[in-house]
Amino acid sequence: MKGSLLKNNKDNARKKNRASILGIGVDCLTLEAAKNAICERWGSNAGVFHVVTANAEMIFRSSRDRELARIIENAGMVTADGAGVVLASRILGYSLPERVAGYDLMVRCLQEAADSGAPVYFLGAQPQVLVQAVEKAQKRFPGLNIAGSHHGYFQEEDEEEIVREICSLKPCLLLVALGVPKQEKWIFRNRRKLPPCVAIGVGGSFDVLAGKATRAPLWMQRAGLEWLYRLAKEPARIGRAAVLPAFLFQVFLQALHIKRY
Ligand code: UDP
Repeated sequence: MKGSLLKNNKDNARKKNRASILGIGVDCLTLEAAKNAICERWGSNAGVFHVVTANAEMIFRSSRDRELARIIENAGMVTADGAGVVLASRILGYSLPERVAGYDLMVRCLQEAADSGAPVYFLGAQPQVLVQAVEKAQKRFPGLNIAGSHHGYFQEEDEEEIVREICSLKPCLLLVALGVPKQEKWIFRNRRKLPPCVAIGVGGSFDVLAGKATRAPLWMQRAGLEWLYRLAKEPARIGRAAVLPAFLFQVFLQALHIKRY
């Protein structure tokens, strides 16, 4: 009884600090606060702490993909990965303090891991890109303990072996770069088999770390225009970028109470 009361109080406190956007809870956190919460967590034995970096496309997709919505609902932390999500929160009357992009969060966590000796595992990206990402990480964060890595183009039957390897290496931080929603579903599906760790879905972050993809100039990031930069670099993403107006339209429907989530 006491236990369930405590749990309810905790759940309520968590809900209060979350913006609800199209039914998806996003934590009101700065980049620094997100990094600190992750680092506090990675010495503990309390299972897998799943961190989702949610952009507008992911939130829009999860309003149509119940499995993805359920996974995000159960995540330990959901950050606002994109200017669209921060804008949506303002429209809905919440105050998400800033954008917490997956790449920035990964970089901060890698720096902390290097400083504290926490072992890290890299899963995802093309084989050659992964090799370069690991090399770059090793150079950029001296002392970083990269316990292991595996590219992201494995067969279903290889999954068990990969999970076994991660269990034997016991990383504190597991970076999963398989793209959305594959990475979220992979972490969720394997959460009970994986060792206690913080698992973050980091999308195309290994490509950026490896130098295969570049981030927008800082002024564009600050102006919330990183999506435009990515679109200019990879015009094939037009279909994905087209989701943004549809996302904002749904946000307005939610704000005007025309649609309930
Ligand atoms: N990827 C992978 N396995 C797959 C599909 C994709 O490892 O089966 C990798 C891909 O090589 C890239 C990342 O996942 O490094 C997805 O990048 P993207 O920029 O599309 O990420 P998102 O926008 O979905 O976060």
